[in-house]
Amino acid sequence: MVPPKNTCKHIGYCALTRDDAGYSPELVRIIRTKWCHADYTQCARYRVARVLGPKAVPVDFFPTEIERTETFLAQTAS
Ligand code: SF4
Repeated sequence: MVPPKNTCKHIGYCALTRDDAGYSPELVRIIRTKWCHADYTQCARYRVARVLGPKAVPVDFFPTEIERTETFLAQTAS
């Protein structure tokens, strides 16, 4: 099934949004509302996953960590 246009294609297997990630349901709900089903192109996890694949993004890498994105990608490239 193709996700709706404004839904991140990584939802469902992005580690941060999985139930077994260990984060509170309220935090996961906020992330899904603000990023996964809305402005996912502004999600730091999405930006890393576009380059390295969703499985390469650590579970403690949060959508707000845009500044960490470049550092993380540079570290993985070296
Ligand atoms: S947290 Fe980011 S990468 Fe993960 S599903 Fe949501 S928008 Fe996509």
